[in-house]
Amino acid sequence: MAATHLDPLALMTKLISFPTVSRDSNLPLVDWVESYLDSHGIPAHRVYDETGEKAALFAHVGPDVEGGIVLSGHTDVVPVDGQAWDTDPWTVIEKDGKYFGRGTCDMKGFDALSIWALVEAHHRGVTRPLQLALSYDEEVGCLGAPAMIDRMVETLPKASAVIVGEPSMMNAVTAHKGGLGLNTRIKGYEVHSSLMHTGVSAIMYGARLIEWANQTNAASAAAEPSPVAAMFEPTFTTVHIGTIEGGTADNITAKDCRFSVDMRVLPDESPERWREIYMEQVAGVVADMKAVHPDTTIEVDTTFWVPGLRPEEDGEAERIVRQITGDNGEHVVSYGTEAGQFQERDYSVVICGPGSIEQAHQPNEFIEVAQFKAGAAFLERMLDTMGRA
Ligand SMILES: [Zn+2]
Repeated sequence: MAATHLDPLALMTKLISFPTVSRDSNLPLVDWVESYLDSHGIPAHRVYDETGEKAALFAHVGPDVEGGIVLSGHTDVVPVDGQAWDTDPWTVIEKDGKYFGRGTCDMKGFDALSIWALVEAHHRGVTRPLQLALSYDEEVGCLGAPAMIDRMVETLPKASAVIVGEPSMMNAVTAHKGGLGLNTRIKGYEVHSSLMHTGVSAIMYGARLIEWANQTNAASAAAEPSPVAAMFEPTFTTVHIGTIEGGTADNITAKDCRFSVDMRVLPDESPERWREIYMEQVAGVVADMKAVHPDTTIEVDTTFWVPGLRPEEDGEAERIVRQITGDNGEHVVSYGTEAGQFQERDYSVVICGPGSIEQAHQPNEFIEVAQFKAGAAFLERMLDTMGRA
């Protein structure tokens, strides 16, 4: 590839032309980004998932020293199936001061700006390093980022600040809840309902765990929130059951029941601890089931686990963003990101990106042209603070 300099809009248009829905491969996009960076003399690193069908990509420009800034985004987008789009979701269309297309807002717009900034930083010869981190499978539980971050820590001089560019209207977001998904499968013992005292209804024992969720939510809502909890609405960790299925007939005790537990965990609480608390409840229910019939059990799989983003004391990433944007407000968001995964690995992290989360995942997803330009202006000013060799 000849070393053409693409502007942010051309880069976003290119990225959006790859339909990188989370369930599908993102390698065509990664191939393209890698060769674009390579054409500018920037080496990139890949971290594959276990299928080899998806990869995260990261890169470093500037001197081989610690203390750089990471721009972090995800390459996957949510599906368009069943959504009524007025335009082709994989083509960027400008209309009414907006760029339409799947991922314009969440978050190939920021990815494009980050790639642009990386190439700019490389050619300017910044004295403070800039790093790019593009993950996969963010939309299905931030699955791709942890291995990518671990590899970045091993391979690159450690950066000190991370900007995760999820749509925040360019506000500095300093906290979000974590998440924990638990798939619960109950195996009961089937008998005719008239003899139910000899059977184990997977549904009725499952209901005990669901009632525990109800009681836990009520108790949490009534408790005094911590200072961090008070930043959120609601001010407590929520335990939610989104789907349930079980049973085969009205007059048979259900042999099987399955339901999903989705917890949104305050950033000053540990998802692991919540899992332990839930498993203690499960153990109590299993003991009662086995007392009726030994051939019964409950299995719990963790479907996702994303740490929250804790507000930092005098955090460097927050300071960088506030100095450039002048934003002094307190902002938290309700969605999860890879921000907590970076923070767990001792990076200072803030979320700041163009566009509004209200447009994410929607049919006719868009980013306002003014927001996209604000994102570009932000990175331009950030580059100005990073020195010139
Ligand atoms: Zn996103």
